[in-house]
Formats: sequence, structure tokens, C-alpha cells
Amino acid sequence: MHTKSIKELHKLLTDKKISAVELAQHFIDRALKHNPSLNCYINILSDEAKQQAKIADDKIFKKEGSLLTGIPFALKDIFCTSDMLTTCGSKMLSDFIPPYDATAYKNLKSSDMVLLGKTNMDEFAMGSSNENSFFGCVQNPWDLDCVPGGSSGGSAVAVAGGLSPVAIGTDTGGSIRQPASFCGITGIKPTYGRVSRYGMIAFASSLDQGGVMAKSAEDCAYVLQSLSGYDKKDSTSMPEDVPSYTESLNNSIKGKKIGLPTEYFANLDDDLKQIITTQIKEFEKLGAIIVDISLPHTDLSVPAYYVISSAECSSNLARYDGVRYGYSAKNPKNLEDLYLKTRTEGFGDEVKRRILIGTYTLSAGYYDAYYIKAQKIRHLIADDFNQAFAQVDILLTPTTPTTAFKKGDKQNPLEMYLSDIYTVAVNLSGLPAISIPAGFHQKMPVGMQLISPAFCEHRLLNFAHMYQAQTDHHLQTPSQVPQEKIL
Ligand code: GLN
Repeated sequence: MHTKSIKELHKLLTDKKISAVELAQHFIDRALKHNPSLNCYINILSDEAKQQAKIADDKIFKKEGSLLTGIPFALKDIFCTSDMLTTCGSKMLSDFIPPYDATAYKNLKSSDMVLLGKTNMDEFAMGSSNENSFFGCVQNPWDLDCVPGGSSGGSAVAVAGGLSPVAIGTDTGGSIRQPASFCGITGIKPTYGRVSRYGMIAFASSLDQGGVMAKSAEDCAYVLQSLSGYDKKDSTSMPEDVPSYTESLNNSIKGKKIGLPTEYFANLDDDLKQIITTQIKEFEKLGAIIVDISLPHTDLSVPAYYVISSAECSSNLARYDGVRYGYSAKNPKNLEDLYLKTRTEGFGDEVKRRILIGTYTLSAGYYDAYYIKAQKIRHLIADDFNQAFAQVDILLTPTTPTTAFKKGDKQNPLEMYLSDIYTVAVNLSGLPAISIPAGFHQKMPVGMQLISPAFCEHRLLNFAHMYQAQTDHHLQTPSQVPQEKIL
């Protein structure tokens, strides 16, 4: 049951082979059984899921449902859910119950999807391994000693382990695509402004974007359709029309041009290069034309990203002061002591590091040298993409420089930051990108990234779907999670 696609689950529901309540129960049972070892959920919402599933069953009975009615999903714990704990992976918000729903969650609820639980994540979405969560690391089901990637590691593992058919993540510098790649699933980060950020706890507001993690591009398409659209509550939401993501899935890509940015392959490990190069041939079989392209400012993307994202983080996280909401330190001597103790006790090391870097780069003497310079570089990086898209329809790159690494392997923060080398430029430019499973290296999943011009998510999904229609990497499941008998 947990390996079925959304379309297959929809058919079972409408043919009355299974009810939405039974389907939710199936995934809740799997979550309760496997979460103690995988730790991908911070909260499993058994009662809420059953209630939402009952409503879905009612709609299916009255034939009022949509394709998503009764389909269960998992939500990264960065999205506010009213009357339900929303922790953002932090001690600071470990008791926080928001009074309102994030628009992204509201949209999925209005499609009658069923929320199974809130997923684990790096604290405030800062990290590439999920080792920064207050609730402990998440285990990669392909190798329990390896990290699942981050920061949406819980969402990736919920899907890869069959604990949810689909999950919602967020991507500020790669947090959907990198864990998708490490866990052998598909993950799409939409154009900045495509999915509302209202009620999505802010890390770096000019980069943050919600998106979908699922087994296939087709499943991503169904859910992204519901997630996307203008929201007047988010001032950076774009009033752009949302095309049908499913209508164009099977469009021919014959004669379309795929650009390979040389900078993304130059220092890539030989084995990974070999795997990706072989997969590129699958696109050639579909009639696509492969051309080399240059994105000359690529090597500046990691430094620019860490200056800009840390600056925005230091400003966004100033709100956690122990007064208004969230954790508040006990017995402070005075107001300043309250701020100091609350922030010292409430934030983890990585969050503190980013706040310090951000405060430093925004301070009077360094603003021009770091922040302004990084913003200029951001423009150069975006220009590289503009020029590339004048020549090709889509870009193809590796998603990550390595497969999932062992827990504890990257103690040096700079080494950790370098694992984002192929993903951050996309966020700096506001572009959409998708990571798709491309094979295995030493039994660990390898991901491949497709990048398109802004608001061309349909193109990404089309290319990814055509590739997945003739390959089966996305259908592989990890043996660490026992597959029980098909319902
Ligand atoms: N790994 C990156 C960081 O730590 C990206 C995080 C994200 O996309 N939320 O900033």
C-alpha cells in the first residue's frame, strides 16, 4: 500500500477497495512501528488524521472529492498548524501551538488531504544533515548510520521509508533537493513566490520556499498543483497563473535542449560523474539535445548564500526573545538577562553560529564589504542563469557532490556548507529545480537536478516524468524498512 502512487491510491479510494480512514490508519501504523528507529516524525497525529480521513470519506461517498481527497501526507514542522504543536525542530518552539494555519497547509486541507504528522528537521531549517534538530537526528533508511540530508530530512525519510506517500518540505538553499537526493526520492523546489510563505516559519525570507517531496514527479505534480498560487497574506507571493502540472507531464521533449553547466561537473567525484553521464543518455533517447554551458559565477554561490541567508536569519530570529511566545528562561535578573538566557538556552549551536555571522555581516563597518557584495554576486549568479536559458530549455546537474554521508562525519561547519554547492545558486536566483533519483553508488541513492526558468515547474515535471517513465530508480525501496504484505 505504501509503495503505491497517488493515482493508484485514488483509484482504490474511489473504487471503495479501501476507505480514507483505513488508508490513514495503515500509514499511522507504519509510522508508529518505524518511527522509533527512523525518527522522521516529531509528532504523529493519529486522532487528527482519522478525523480528517472521515471528512474525506464523506466527500468520496458523495462523489465530491478531488484526486487528492483522502491522500495522506506529512508536513515539515516549520509550517504552522493551528492547535497543533509546531516546533521548527527547536527547543525555542518546543511548546509552541500556533493560533493559525499556514496557507500551504490550508491549501492541502481544502483538497481534503489527510495530515499524518509533522516531520523532523534541522533547527529553523539550518543544516544539511538533520543533525541539528532538537529532537535528534533522522536515520536514512538506506543506511541507518547515514544522515538523511537536511533540513527537510524528516519529510524525505517519511516518503523513502513508506511512512507517508508524500511530504511537504522547504528549501532555502537545497533543503528539499538534497535530502530527496540522499534518500532516493523526488523533490521539487518551486519558483520563489509560487507557494505562499504565510505561516511558514522564516529562516531567510528572500530564499525560503515550500515544495513537495514524493516518490515520483507525477505525484509531485498533483500535490504542487494544490500547494501553489497567489496568497494576499504573503507580500512576496506572485500573482502568476498556475498552469496544469499534470496536462504537460507526457509532452514530448524531442528537440529540447538540455544544458550541462561545466562548473557543476568539474570537481565531481568520478563515480558520480559516471552515473550521471549514463543517465543523461536516457534524455538523449527521448530526443533531447545535450549541450555544454557555462555558469561562470558558480564558485561564488556558497559564500554569497551563507552571507545573505545568515544576515536574514539574524534579523528574522530576533523575534525569539522570551517575551512574546516560545521558550522563556526562568528567573531572569532583568529584561536583558531574560533575552540573554532565553536565546542562550533556547537556540542550538548552529542557529547561534548563523545569528552571529549574520549580525556581523550586517554591522556598520562590514555591511558594504560582506552583505552588499553578496547581493551584487547574487545578481551575477542570476544573470548567468538568464544567459544560459537564452540557449537551452533546461539545465541538468548533480544534486549533491556526494551520496549521504555518515552521521558525525562533517564536524567542521564549512565542510557541511559545501554539501550545498550545487543547490544554493538556484535559491539565490529564485528559480525552480527538481531532484530525481538517478541510480545508486555503493548502495546509496544518487540524485540528479533539473533547473528551469522561473515559473516553468511544468517543464521540470515534464522532463522528470518522461525520464521516470523509462527508468526505475525512483521505484526502488530501502530494505531497512521491512515491507509488509500488500493490503
Ligand atoms: N543547508 C542549507 C543551510 O543550512 C540549506 C538549508 C535550507 O534549504 N533550509 O542553510
